[in-house]
Amino acid sequence: KPRVRFAPSPTGYLHVGGARTALFNWLFARHTGGTFILRIEDTDFERSSEEMVEGILDGMSWLGLNWDEGPFYQSKRLDLYRATAEKLLASGHAYRCFCTKEELEQRRAEATAAGRQPMYDRRCRTLSEETAKQRVAAGEMSALRFAVPEQGTTFFDDAVFGRIEFANAELEDFVLLRSDGIPTYHLSVVADDVDMRLTHIIRGADHLSNTPKQVLQYRALGAELPVFAHVPLILGPDKTRLSKRHGATSVLAYKDLGIVPEAFRNFLSLLGWSPEGDNKNREIFSSQEVTSLFSLSGISKSNAVFGNEKLAWYNQEYIRNYSAEMLLPLVEQEWVKAGIWPERPREELLSTLDLLKARARNLTDFAIAFRAYFSDEYEIDPTAAAKFLKDTQVRALLVELASRYMNATEFTEQSAETILRAFAEEKQVKPGLLINGARVALTGQAVAPSLFTVMMALGHQRVVKRLTAAEQ
Ligand code: GLU
Repeated sequence: KPRVRFAPSPTGYLHVGGARTALFNWLFARHTGGTFILRIEDTDFERSSEEMVEGILDGMSWLGLNWDEGPFYQSKRLDLYRATAEKLLASGHAYRCFCTKEELEQRRAEATAAGRQPMYDRRCRTLSEETAKQRVAAGEMSALRFAVPEQGTTFFDDAVFGRIEFANAELEDFVLLRSDGIPTYHLSVVADDVDMRLTHIIRGADHLSNTPKQVLQYRALGAELPVFAHVPLILGPDKTRLSKRHGATSVLAYKDLGIVPEAFRNFLSLLGWSPEGDNKNREIFSSQEVTSLFSLSGISKSNAVFGNEKLAWYNQEYIRNYSAEMLLPLVEQEWVKAGIWPERPREELLSTLDLLKARARNLTDFAIAFRAYFSDEYEIDPTAAAKFLKDTQVRALLVELASRYMNATEFTEQSAETILRAFAEEKQVKPGLLINGARVALTGQAVAPSLFTVMMALGHQRVVKRLTAAEQ
């Protein structure tokens, strides 16, 4: 059974690219009945933080990406990395390097100035074992480097990009273990991937150039190579790599914007992947559908473009098609954030959600734009007020209309309309004048569903109260 992992570095929040990598791994695991492992790559002690870990876990649970094993923390597994490094040293695949940081920097600068590739010149590779031991015994600091073969090539067959080959001469003798005993990413990632018996490595294409260094270690350790599947990058609409310039890149920022997690997942799953066959041009897929259709062969080689408008479209589609029952728990979270506690029967809340959902762009609308439907403390949009409630005569008429409603024995959509129209005729004003004014007074907004439906959603008492309040 396949074993895959998501291995974020907690040096930042969970961004869109990371979430997509996590999602693809999760989908692959669920599709194949395999295991999805979460591993936190926190060996960069200065830049990693507990807060970022929390954020990553929150982002994953928001997206419903549950893991089967972990979270494992690399910071707690240093012994494994040191042991792996020792193994590579003992088998002659690694060597001690005594070059200091200053020396390396100087040689790097010289190489760059001379127009050469600034690669480590392998100076310490030729030191005899005895010399190295003596220098260590004398207290000299040393790092451990991997001895890359000087000739030949290193290749692997990527499930997305096909055969990828690198000339060994172009690979540096990379550091495995720093002089302070901290492993580099190259070492810890392979030690863990081997130890955790991962069968497929699905990750961003930005790691393609790291892969030969990892393949070399697998070979040196006598470990079986996993299948690599590198996922294309995500670009902004201007075709440059997605960054903050393009808007929010943190997954939780989308939660705050009122995006429905299912909509976000649907959108993410089609960034760089598409189903084959009949489903090729479909856009809306349930999570179960994506899970059953997912395959590595559907991952595209070309970069994906993150379209904010597309995401907005997905979000609207999901909200519009959700039943009020499904929407309510999501909307409740928005109410809590906005300090709204609608004390209304659940049935009323559900029918109001049904009334509004086709107009919602995101979940926050239910607490902000549609606040008046759920709270008596709402503001009247100044532009709408200036347009439809400025006239003192209109305001006075609305107050009078309120008393007609108050005295009405029946309050239905039909009767509310009949009363308003009769009242307009009596007062010799256009019904539209009252309808527009009432809409603003009742909802705080110039646009809303049909006024008389809105009146039913608000209820008799509230309508009377709000129209009366139009006086001010
Ligand atoms: N920790 C690495 C990152 O955040 C991922 C390592 C990997 O997938 O091999 O980019």
